[in-house]
Amino acid sequence: MTTSGARSATRGLSLLGATGSIGASTLDVVSRHPDRYRVFALCAHTSAAPLLESCRRYRPRYAVLSGVAEDRELRRRFAEAAGCELLYGALALEQVAAHPDCDTVMAAIVGAAGLAPTLAAARTGKRILLANKEALVMAGAPFMHVVRESGAELLPIDSEHNAVFQCLPQRATGGPTLTGVRRVVLTASGGPFRAAPLARLEHVTPAEACAHPNWVMGRKISVDSATMMNKGLEVIEARWLFDLPPERIEVLIHPQSIVHSLVEYVDGSVLAQLSNPDMRVPIAHALGLPERIESGARPLDLGAIGQLGFERPDLKRFPCVQLAYEALRAGGNAPAVLNAANEVAVEAFLAGGLRFTQIALVIAGTLEAVAAAAGDSLAAVLAADASARRAAAAIVTRLHGKAA
Ligand code: NAD
Ligand code: MG
Repeated sequence: MTTSGARSATRGLSLLGATGSIGASTLDVVSRHPDRYRVFALCAHTSAAPLLESCRRYRPRYAVLSGVAEDRELRRRFAEAAGCELLYGALALEQVAAHPDCDTVMAAIVGAAGLAPTLAAARTGKRILLANKEALVMAGAPFMHVVRESGAELLPIDSEHNAVFQCLPQRATGGPTLTGVRRVVLTASGGPFRAAPLARLEHVTPAEACAHPNWVMGRKISVDSATMMNKGLEVIEARWLFDLPPERIEVLIHPQSIVHSLVEYVDGSVLAQLSNPDMRVPIAHALGLPERIESGARPLDLGAIGQLGFERPDLKRFPCVQLAYEALRAGGNAPAVLNAANEVAVEAFLAGGLRFTQIALVIAGTLEAVAAAAGDSLAAVLAADASARRAAAAIVTRLHGKAA
């Protein structure tokens, strides 16, 4: 890799997870602001053709394929068609995230695979736009330690956390504080099965689970939204982003996905952030900070929407929310175990090897099977992740055997 001496006035952006749903929304916002951002690196796991297409359009210096064997012919195609250097392997993700010519990293890889490159960005003090909540759920303590030590700037992209960030008081030096804050309320749509008869949940298919009523997202987060584990992960994410104990983080169902979250103050005031459900809104907020920039989202028309509803979540329908609170309260390696078990269970469900209602059973069983341990070092977190994947896979095999 090469380093150019002088930096241009625009910010260099490395986009991890460029071919995903958040990746596409990010490129859409970036393309509206060529004066602010130049794309430094675009990364994908295996989808070479869409990556090449984006490279043609955005002309990054580097492209990365982390899950594909080296192929000279492909490297030549990227160089000829898009003028960029194609790098291979997971280490290349860390290189482009930590490169001195990159100022800003969009962390939009799905799952635990996003941890290492996001940490590399944190160690080198970048502005990190964090969509990859799983990294923070599994490694909250060591991750936040690195952020504090390096002076990296962590900006939440998850719509709820971005909303909380916008509603919290800001320090004179920048960044949110908890002064005068009583609690935060994370809203949740309730997903596609919020009102479905409970007996039907056992038989729902991956296609039904991925058909979210308000958002178009990757398949993993769509299933997480259907089980509401997404909100459980977000409670843990909020704990680390805002340094809040679990009893000061509440979950409220809001089916329209217009109010993205709320902050309640000690004087009884409640501030909320509203917009149409469009991830370009939080992405533009973080890309533009401290200024406001165009996102491309439709303006909100509350007169046309008419009614906004709120209700408490039914924990019998959504046991994953409870499991996440328990893991957060247990602390140590429990959130890493919860996250890994969920990734294994969701993958098995998407592959037709597990029933929807068994996802929570796999997670609960894994939390019981893996011994509690510390979670404050990266080594401890990675060990918990590996043990939990083995335990969860064994439970999936047992349950699948029974179901067959
Ligand atoms: P997606 O499945 O659409 O895209 C995932 C991206 O990650 C792809 O570019 C893929 O190539 C890459 N990837 C997958 N596995 C990888 C691996 N092992 N190594 C390196 N790269 C890999 O997912 P998404 O919906 O864009 O979500 C990305 C992240 O953002 C997730 O953590 C999700 O929870 C979070 N998020 C998404 C949304 C949304 O609206 N989509 C909202 C909030 C938070
Ligand atoms: Mg969210």
